[in-house]
Amino acid sequence: MAELTPMMRQYHDLKNKYQDAVLFFRLGDFYEMFGEDAKRAAKILDIALTSRNKGGGEKIPMAGVPYHSAASYIEKLIKKGIKVAICEQLEDPSESSGIVERDVIRVVTPGTVIENEILSENENNYLAAVFKYGDYYGFSYTDISTGEFYLTEFSAEKTNKLKDEINRISPRELLLDEQTASSKLINELHNQYNFTLNILGQKKFERLYQGLLDHFKLKSLEGFGCEEMKAAVYAAGQVLSYLSETQKRTINQITNLKAYHLEDYMVLDSASRRNLELSSTIRDNQRSGSLLSILDQTVTSMGAREIKKWINQPLVQKNEITKRHDALAEIIDNYMILEKLRAELSEIYDLERIMSKITYQSANARDLVALRNSLAKLPAVKKLMAELQSGLLSEMQADFDLLEDIYNVIDNSIKNEPPTTITEGGIIKDGYDSKLDELRSLVSSGKDWISALQKEEREKTGINTLKVGFNKVFGYYLEVTNSHTDKVPARYERKQTLSNSERYIIPELKEKESEVLGAEEKINDLEYKLFVEIRDEIAAEVERINKTAAVIAKIDVLLSFSYLAIENNYNRPKINNGAEIKIKDGRHPVVEKMFEEQFVPNDCYLNQSDQRFIIITGPNMSGKSTYMRQVALIVLMAQIGSYVPAAEAVIGLTDRIFTRVGASDDLTTGQSTFMVEMNEVANIVNNSTEKSLIILDEVGRGTSTYDGVSIAWSVSEYLNNPERIGARTLFATHYHELTRLEDEYQGIKNYNVLVEEDSDGVHFLHRIVPGRANDSYGIEVARLAGLPEEIIISAQKILERLEENNKMPVRKLEKTIADDKHQQLPLFNTEKSPILKKIDEQDILEMTPMDAMNFLYNLKKDL
Ligand code: ADP
Repeated sequence: MAELTPMMRQYHDLKNKYQDAVLFFRLGDFYEMFGEDAKRAAKILDIALTSRNKGGGEKIPMAGVPYHSAASYIEKLIKKGIKVAICEQLEDPSESSGIVERDVIRVVTPGTVIENEILSENENNYLAAVFKYGDYYGFSYTDISTGEFYLTEFSAEKTNKLKDEINRISPRELLLDEQTASSKLINELHNQYNFTLNILGQKKFERLYQGLLDHFKLKSLEGFGCEEMKAAVYAAGQVLSYLSETQKRTINQITNLKAYHLEDYMVLDSASRRNLELSSTIRDNQRSGSLLSILDQTVTSMGAREIKKWINQPLVQKNEITKRHDALAEIIDNYMILEKLRAELSEIYDLERIMSKITYQSANARDLVALRNSLAKLPAVKKLMAELQSGLLSEMQADFDLLEDIYNVIDNSIKNEPPTTITEGGIIKDGYDSKLDELRSLVSSGKDWISALQKEEREKTGINTLKVGFNKVFGYYLEVTNSHTDKVPARYERKQTLSNSERYIIPELKEKESEVLGAEEKINDLEYKLFVEIRDEIAAEVERINKTAAVIAKIDVLLSFSYLAIENNYNRPKINNGAEIKIKDGRHPVVEKMFEEQFVPNDCYLNQSDQRFIIITGPNMSGKSTYMRQVALIVLMAQIGSYVPAAEAVIGLTDRIFTRVGASDDLTTGQSTFMVEMNEVANIVNNSTEKSLIILDEVGRGTSTYDGVSIAWSVSEYLNNPERIGARTLFATHYHELTRLEDEYQGIKNYNVLVEEDSDGVHFLHRIVPGRANDSYGIEVARLAGLPEEIIISAQKILERLEENNKMPVRKLEKTIADDKHQQLPLFNTEKSPILKKIDEQDILEMTPMDAMNFLYNLKKDL
């Protein structure tokens, strides 16, 4: 250490404090990285790796990025989950003697980004925390670019809930304690999603609690409704303490703490969220093709973020939902207001993100102008809203602050088209500050004097090409072309010689110049000071502005729903606490859009007595999955407060929607398909209630036929049984055996998809009708495809025999399997086929893949 240069010593002292971050060390116009940081960053950022003398003749690797384009480099590191500690020079190098003082002013982490360049407009950027406290998990999350801050808690036994919450908000960064971090669940989630983990040490509850009180300037958390939620408060306190450690300032844009309870929302587990493709598609994880992509017709960024929250958090209370529907009904009735409101809103910028830049003191004058222009729209919005009276809309108006005072502050002070820099003047309007006006007039009269000088000197010297000019090195000068230099008077002092001319100065000019330049410098300083004052004045109003921003986000979502209802012909669902789900002419909101041909609407009826559990059979690609998902999506849309793609719908409120979809899913967790499937089924069986809606698509396919059908059968019995679960269920299956459940249990009904066969082939009508599918359609297809008649006849015989078997109750399935073994051979007429005999004699399960290959090889030889 002793051998290091003083600057490298300073570097190492700082780096030691920020070992888990890449340290951006400000050196003049660059941020430099050294040692391992440099090597790592050079690769990721694709920049040159050089080296620097660190003292004692030794070199250290170095890489640097220009400070003015640092944001794009920070972005790349953040996207890789790497934290960046920004170290600045705290004094002007030209004024310091010895080494310049430096310190880290902020650590940018994936969950604490506020830079527009790095954030995506329509998405939140969450930092979340989960801490085990007593028997509970405390869960809290914030987005410092918008100022939202939430907290909740739930029993630590409910790891599912933790998983669902993490899945719902998909944080960029997760803070947690050591014990939770080592849990299997967190490991799984971490492998699955791209978030940065930070293990934090335990802190005293009292300290964290006090930290929250200090931040919100409160005596208790009573007002936020979370005084008694100890675990939640613990997690929120950790979030706040992490923010102050990394951001090194108070996060003033966080003005509110929202406590929520999981029971207030519909439960959607991660698999169901994914299967229903709420905000991204399963196949390529894209927004396009998701429910969100269809429903999001918002016109502001605030609305776009809000609608995503609504979709991911359906409601379960009838009056809350009805309030939203009432608002839609009124907006739809007033189409002109809807159009006008959307036009006004579309000109409003992202108030939340502008405010977070303002409170962060990183906003420039253009941001203030954008804020003013947005605020300018508020009176018109409020006036239009005043024409609507439904409960929710009038509640929202009460929270709607016109913010005229803030508009006036900006409008009186900031020029309409200010520059992006805030240190070089040109920001403040004339007439705002008398001192500034005085300085400006001094400058302008000085400049007038200087331009008058040109005329004066031309007359005095008789050089009519003489010009007054200015450059940064010499300041103002008089320029005379070479052909006239002989006329230059002695009082001119030569300063610079160019190829065609000479430049001179005279004392009067220099005197004026220093007056003008001095005043300009003062102007820049004064404008900066005034600007910062104005910005701080607005920052102090963040709570009011964010309240209005929240109203705008909500109205934008309601307008989006109303607009869609009209555009896409959605209708108002009736909501009640009953057990029925009744849909007439329902459509799939996404598939109907993607589909060029006419989409076939379908009905659905479920209740708690005679039609609780529907088994749907029918060929592949006939529309079973589409139908079941559409039922789930219609229920979900109704419960987020939207109208639904159906002619009529009655929705008995649903507490959870579960979906379990086919075995062909891609695997991300490394478990076998069957294991994944059974985990999901176990989740459904253990957590569903009679108020749940369950969608099962091809459950049991991950294993052999008999295992599969047996599991599917007993799961169905259990789910349908009101003494066990009695949940409303749609189950699509290839197991024809399951259609016999209808005969055995009250509440189970068969449906199938209509197929039409004619000489042109088989047509899928996509219509769901009562009854079981005709399972010989496959043979018909085979005949149409031109298979020899001999095969078709044989197939029909086999089918008849299998159907014969099927008449036995599946309870005796094991016996059926045993019988099968004995009876199967004659069917295939073994006498004639020694090959089949050989196959039958072989115990396939005992074979290695190599054995199987050899066996097949030998069979082929016998042919
Ligand atoms: P299955 O689950 O029976 O294999 P899908 O639900 O995946 O079938 O549907 C297959 C295709 O049929 C869909 O991709 C869609 O193109 C079309 N389809 C499904 N339902 C309908 C419908 N109601 N109207 C028109 N086309 C439909």
